[in-house]
Amino acid sequence: MRHLHSGKVRDLYEVQEGEHAGQLLVVASDRLSIFDFVLDTTIPDKGEILTRMSLWWFEQLADLVPHHVLSTDVPAAVRGRAVVCERLDMFPVECVARGYLTGSGLLDYRAGGAVCGVPLPDGLVDGSRLPEPIFTPATKAELGEHDENVSYAAVAERIGEADAAHLRELTLAVYARAEELARERGILLADTKLEFGRSAGAARNPAGAVVLGDEVLTPDSSRFWPAAAWEPGRTQPSYDKQIVRNWALSPEAGWDRASGGAPPPLPSEVVERTRARYVEAYELLTGQSW
Ligand code: ATP
Ligand code: MG
Repeated sequence: MRHLHSGKVRDLYEVQEGEHAGQLLVVASDRLSIFDFVLDTTIPDKGEILTRMSLWWFEQLADLVPHHVLSTDVPAAVRGRAVVCERLDMFPVECVARGYLTGSGLLDYRAGGAVCGVPLPDGLVDGSRLPEPIFTPATKAELGEHDENVSYAAVAERIGEADAAHLRELTLAVYARAEELARERGILLADTKLEFGRSAGAARNPAGAVVLGDEVLTPDSSRFWPAAAWEPGRTQPSYDKQIVRNWALSPEAGWDRASGGAPPPLPSEVVERTRARYVEAYELLTGQSW
């Protein structure tokens, strides 16, 4: 395998031989990032949990949108946490759908009553459910930079009106399906980020098709909230790295975020609780035991 790229959490390789030569091997590591820092401490099984969750979602969505997964038959060293994917020509857009207001959406709303140019009613607070789900795209940042929210018009200008409309439609359709599925299982899908690319023509997908890539609907790409604890007006408890974020910001961690340095190594108890949180989300969503 030829190494192509390492992101904060995943490593990409090009398959060199066999049926899938030229395609991608996407390996999910056990690394975890908070506040754009990759931590020194890893979370056991995280890569496998997220890979299996993403595969489960691709299947649930297969009738809505084609996906990039070709095979889960991968080298033994990465079995369970890697997938062979069709190499797509990715659109330079992070396709975000939001059904609830929080995070960067909340910041934009507070600054101007809108998110990515979509006006919202007055009086919304952290965790409010939106009148209807909205498409709030972002531009993909370079390593270490933050993604930047942009308007739909900016996306249309960049990739053309037809593709922009198609991405918006697909993103909102995926969100609607996933939100419903999650809600039936006691989880609110507050928002999610998708990435799409164009197929060059592979096993299932005809050349030119718009295909769902990357990983989907994992706690790294989405906010999942326990429905029973939802209470607008505060930060919602969530099935992701919140435990780690809270710990890093606590006096116990002794970390000065403003210093620009990475957070200290995690205590084993924080690692264990975080792992348990990922397992819980996996089991609730898929109905399968880990
Ligand atoms: P970050 O850590 O901020 O997410 P990153 O997005 O560069 O950084 P990863 O998410 O780990 O890092 O890497 C996955 C990369 O692979 C992304 O750049 C994504 O756009 C790209 N990618 C995902 N699926 C495909 C695909 N099917 N074909 C081509 N590129 C893909
Ligand atoms: Mg990424």
